Amino acid sequence: MSRVYNFCAGPAALPEAVLKQAQSELLDWHGKGLSVMEMSHRGDEFTSIAATAEQDLRDLLGVPDNYKVLFMQGGASQQFAQIPLNFLAEGATADYIDTGIWSRKSIEEASRFGNINVAASAKEYDYFAIPGQNEWQLSKDAAYVHYASNETIGGLQFDWTPQTGDTPLVVDMSSDILSKPLQVCRYGMIYAGAQKNIGPSGLVVAIVREDLLGRARASCPTMLNYKVAADNGSMYNTPPTFSWYLSGLVFKWLKEQGGLEAMAKINHAKQALLYQTIDASDFYSNPVASNARSWMNVPFRLADAKLDKAFLAGADERGLLNLKGHRSVGGMRASIYNAVSLEAVEALVAYMQEFEKERA
Ligand code: PMP
Repeated sequence: MSRVYNFCAGPAALPEAVLKQAQSELLDWHGKGLSVMEMSHRGDEFTSIAATAEQDLRDLLGVPDNYKVLFMQGGASQQFAQIPLNFLAEGATADYIDTGIWSRKSIEEASRFGNINVAASAKEYDYFAIPGQNEWQLSKDAAYVHYASNETIGGLQFDWTPQTGDTPLVVDMSSDILSKPLQVCRYGMIYAGAQKNIGPSGLVVAIVREDLLGRARASCPTMLNYKVAADNGSMYNTPPTFSWYLSGLVFKWLKEQGGLEAMAKINHAKQALLYQTIDASDFYSNPVASNARSWMNVPFRLADAKLDKAFLAGADERGLLNLKGHRSVGGMRASIYNAVSLEAVEALVAYMQEFEKERA
């Protein structure tokens, strides 16, 4: 068996140790004679798997007691509608920050439900920098402020947390949750699709401050109501049990690595090596302002786009997979989430230097 280095933006690489454990438990979980996929979600076995996963996530992020942790379906995209349905009363206004494709999608979707004020946009910087909070035009009575901490396609990441006073701050952390320590108390709600740093797709994790529950519109579908999810331990209906279980294994793995402080150190080293390689060459480029460069998704271009195909073919040959940039922007993108090792980034950098020597 030979595993490749997988730089996919999502579904993304999972820790090999986690996959091996899932494999060893696949047919017979803990001597129970059945797979996690075959268990009742309400039985003792699965409820213990679910509770352990939640506790491990709480430990990793230091989630305060007045926050609920919800394991839901529909991906992060469903949250784009669920957030206004739960937090934006009819006729009220919410503030959104536009830093790229994902935050724009959240703005488009929320606009179906109420007044959305785009309080700041990275457009004026061609999406290569994030407007500072002194440039934001926040509304007086916004129901909440929403932003995406990491734009997975543009490779644009906040290295600071907005200050919104009493207005709840809602953040899409799909592509950078668990990559470094976090102060949960700064947020009203944090959410993330699982398929990058959490686990397999099919699951979205939301961390919601309790006082924000129970504000949903009367028209909010039951399945989309956070209070219903919270009151039912995320089991109003059948949850995505296998994704939940596998995410729990990832949380244990993260604890074994030393938690988020340790991950931050490794992630810092990985991104530094890759950006240094790009910056040291005239052949590769990344246009993002240095304080807004993503630690998780590193887009880069070759000086001559005609070489893209050859670059990708050579990468594939060396087991460096999924480096093609998003279809909307082209170029290359290396996603270097928690499960992508420093060794993988070293292999990528060695290939980039070799390719440049041959082709530049
Ligand atoms: N937000 C961000 C920042 C993302 O990267 C993605 C997916 N790449 C989404 C939202 C949408 O996630 P999903 O596919 O789970 O709906």
